[in-house]
Parts: sequence; structure tokens; C-alpha cells
Amino acid sequence: MNKKISRRIFLRNSSFGVLGTGLFRNHTFATNINYQKNELSGKLIYRTLGKTGIRVPVIGMGILTSGSPALIKAALDAGITHFDSTAGQPQQIRNEEMLGEVLRGRDRKSIIYGTKVHLPQDYKTGLYEKTATEKEFTRILDTALKSIQMDYVDILYHHMVSRRESAFYEPVMKAMEKAKKAGKTRFLGLTSHNNVPEAVNAAADSKFYEVVMASYNPRQLDRLQVKEAIASAAEAGLGVVAIKVIRGDIEKGHEPINPVASLKWVLQDTNVHATIPGFSNFDEMNIDLSVMDDLTLTDDELNDLKREKSYSGFFCQGCGQCLKQCRAELPIPDLMRAYMYVYGYRQPALAHTLLRTLKLPRKLCDDCSSCQVVCLNGWKVSEKICDITRLRDVP
Ligand code: SF4
Ligand code: SF4
Repeated sequence: MNKKISRRIFLRNSSFGVLGTGLFRNHTFATNINYQKNELSGKLIYRTLGKTGIRVPVIGMGILTSGSPALIKAALDAGITHFDSTAGQPQQIRNEEMLGEVLRGRDRKSIIYGTKVHLPQDYKTGLYEKTATEKEFTRILDTALKSIQMDYVDILYHHMVSRRESAFYEPVMKAMEKAKKAGKTRFLGLTSHNNVPEAVNAAADSKFYEVVMASYNPRQLDRLQVKEAIASAAEAGLGVVAIKVIRGDIEKGHEPINPVASLKWVLQDTNVHATIPGFSNFDEMNIDLSVMDDLTLTDDELNDLKREKSYSGFFCQGCGQCLKQCRAELPIPDLMRAYMYVYGYRQPALAHTLLRTLKLPRKLCDDCSSCQVVCLNGWKVSEKICDITRLRDVP
């Protein structure tokens, strides 16, 4: 393979003031990633999403954090054909409209597009609330199809499943089945961010879902169980898409996580067929695309993986133990997700929207003289909560 290896690239540190207010200014976003940038050989690595037969490059694009048509065009030019979004969120609707515009005029069959629909669940139990209806699921899907100007999606995901019971929640399954019969989707999938092994195993057992999208990264505490569940799903013929692989930058005082090493680590597991990192600028895109034709881990990358093993970055492990410990019964994993949106993804608007949907009390953590929560990640959750909830007051 005629492959030009260029020098190691050191991207500069950059500071980031949320909404220009200087809020959170004590944090520096870690963009000084060391990675070895290769010129892509053109022989991109493709894998097949299980029995769906869909072939995609190992790197796709989650559009959650990508607000620029130029970025999407550049990704298409680089060979990305697999795009993913989440239906029903304001920022996502804008991104869907933008992706729809960029794709207009292209052969629809050359693109693989997946979207996810999430309905209200009890944050403590992961079980569905009464407002989670078939009708609402269909309404969200139809709105998303309109925004992206498509007649169908390739994969329709039942979003954020953490419990076996929820994977089999009848109103959602009925809505999905009808969507498939009506030609609104080619395949059905399920996503899981928390309690991943239980959800992925349920999907594999269901004979209903054809693709699973699951959190999987080298710093995940239950990664061995996730690996086993993914292997069973792949064995059962499901397509496997890994998420939450990177962009979990480390907080001040630590080295940043090496995203290239994480992507390669995940993709070296051949039961993973694709990833869909969300990149929000050209630097991040180039970092992510650099693995598309070669998954070999260099010595530096192996050392980085060893060093990072105990880092939690911004990823909540989703263990749920804080939910039982918090005196005010706060939805701490969701609050930590909002924190990650700001400091990991640099997307304060997403965090803002999430915080406003959480039905939080006006005062948070004020009445607790000392926080009782022992977080599996070792986080001081009350400090993070006080920090992130200031964003609620930003108009
Ligand atoms: S300080 Fe905050 S997170 Fe800790 S127990 Fe009190 S309300 Fe819960
Ligand atoms: S204890 Fe920590 S890691 Fe576990 S769910 Fe709560 S915030 Fe996440």
C-alpha cells in the first residue's frame, strides 16, 4: 500500500466560553490530541451490518454536533456514506434539514441514513411513562422524515433502551412494525447508552431488531460484558454500531483522550461493524477519518490506551447507583449528560435543551451540607450539577 505517513500533528489548545458569556471559563477543551495522520489510501474499510446486508465504511457521521453543510460535504467527499441523527430535538431538526439539503440530488440509495426516536421514560427505572404512545412515536418519525426530505430511513432505532422490558415495550414495537410495513424504514434497530448488556441481549433475543447501536469504549467499566453482548448480537445476525467511543475529553489537569486509539480499539473488535462519531469541525473530522483505512494501533496509541484506562472522561457509566443515593432524587445521569454536552461535545445548546426538559427543582444541591453520592466514576457530582445548571438561566 502506497501510504504517505506525515508528521505527528499537534492541534492547539483552545478555550471556549459558553454562549460567549465566559461561563465555565475555568475549563480548557482538550484539542491538543496527538495522532499520526495518514493520507488515506483510498481503500477504505467496509463492514456489513449483519443480516441487513448494508455495507458501510467503518466510520460514519453522527450529525448531532455537526452544524455545517461544508462539513457534511467534506465527509461525503472523503467517502462517508452512513449518517445518523436523533428525531424530534430542535437542534436535530435543523441538522436534518441541513443534511437533507446537502443530500438533495444525490442517489438516495448511495446513502445509509438512520434516525432514533425517544419517548419519555422514568429516569430511575428506565421503564416507559404513560405518555410514551405509539401515536407519539409515529408523529416524531413523520416530522423527522419531513425535515430531512426523505420518504424513508434505512434504520429506525428505538432509542435509549436500558431495560429488557423497555426493549419489548408494545406501543413502540407496534409503531416500528407499522413504519416498516408502510415503507418508512428498511430496518429496525435499538440503541442503548446505559445498562448496555441487558438491552443488547434483549435486542438479540427479540428476533425483531436488526441493528443495535451501543455505547462501547476502552474506558467503560463494563466493557467486557458489553463486548460479550455485542458478540452475541453479531452472532445472531444483528448489525452492530458503536457509539460514545470518543470525544470524552479529560478535565483540566489530565492529558486528553486519544480519539484515534479509542476508535481503533473499538473497531478491532470485528463484531463492531461501524461507528458514527460526531465531529463538529474539520480538525475533529480529519482525526476520525484517519482510521478509515487502517486500524493498526501504533505503539504510542497502545501506550495512550494503557494510560487512559482509568479515565472516565465525560462519560457517565450509567450504573444508576447515584439515583438511589441522592436525597433530592435528582436525575444525576441526565445532568452528567448535560455536562458532557458542554465540556465533551462543546454543544451548550444541547445541554440547555436537555436541562429544560428535566423538570428540575429551582434549587439544586443547596440544602445538602455534604453530598452523599458516591459516583462509580469518582466524580463530585454535586459540583458538576451546580456548574452545569447555571446554563438554565442563560436565555
Ligand atoms: S448534594 Fe445534590 S447530588 Fe448530592 S445528595 Fe444533595 S441533592 Fe443529591
Ligand atoms: S454513579 Fe456516576 S457513573 Fe454511575 S450513573 Fe451516577 S453519575 Fe453515572
